[in-house]
Amino acid sequence: MKIDLVTIFPGMLEGPFKESMIKRAVDRGLVEINLIDLRSYTRDRHRQVDDTPYGGGCGMILKPEPLFEAVEDLKSKSEYERSWVLLMTPQGRRFDQQAARKLSGEKHLILICGRYEGVDERVRTALIDEEFSIGDYVLTGGELAAAVIVDAVVRLLPGFITEEAAANESFSDSFLEHPHYTRPSAFRGMEVPSVLLSGNHAEIERWRRKQSIKRTCERRPDLLEKAKLLPDEKSYLEEIMRQQN
Ligand code: SAM
Repeated sequence: MKIDLVTIFPGMLEGPFKESMIKRAVDRGLVEINLIDLRSYTRDRHRQVDDTPYGGGCGMILKPEPLFEAVEDLKSKSEYERSWVLLMTPQGRRFDQQAARKLSGEKHLILICGRYEGVDERVRTALIDEEFSIGDYVLTGGELAAAVIVDAVVRLLPGFITEEAAANESFSDSFLEHPHYTRPSAFRGMEVPSVLLSGNHAEIERWRRKQSIKRTCERRPDLLEKAKLLPDEKSYLEEIMRQQN
């Protein structure tokens, strides 16, 4: 996969991709991540990327010309047939694991990071395939949102983590993941559940599944609407719900 991030502050995005597992994915060739300085697509002496809004009002708007030139250039240089262009915006669809999974199937992503009051509307209507928000709050720029999206997408690429690890994760099948424990088995009077020390893998799996259902019911009951439950899991869920009421 190839990911191009278009920003006026490329320095902001250097850290997140040069550490830990994302760096390893880059080093292993699972993904190529390029930071594209929008100013390199300006033609004037001042390398101007923004201008005042028509109609007056506060703030600056990212101009259409450099953004169009950047996206057209990145698309034309891409070795892939399809490039999928994303705009970071608080007005977009809320980014979630399902969206991450879908995006991880793309070969070439171009992420546009807005700044100031945002981008000229013609960018949104003519250049963008999907608009994403990472939550109902307003950031100063799209860089952190883009870093979140890239992180969530890259870790779903085949070979990044094992299929088993990916399958058990929160949101992978409409459930939150079960709790985890590590050594020591007793810490400040808090014991690790004995089943996890039993070595009985079938029992451990059953315990984890039940914990996962319980957690989801307590914290994110909305997720359970789409969950596929076996008959005994259904009865367990009903029991938890009875206890809650
Ligand atoms: N004036 C815009 C509005 O009210 O909708 C907000 C602009 S915001 C200050 C500047 C840039 O930050 C946006 O263009 C977008 O790229 C990014 N941004 C801010 N909040 C975001 C969010 N929740 N999700 C994704 N991107 C966001």
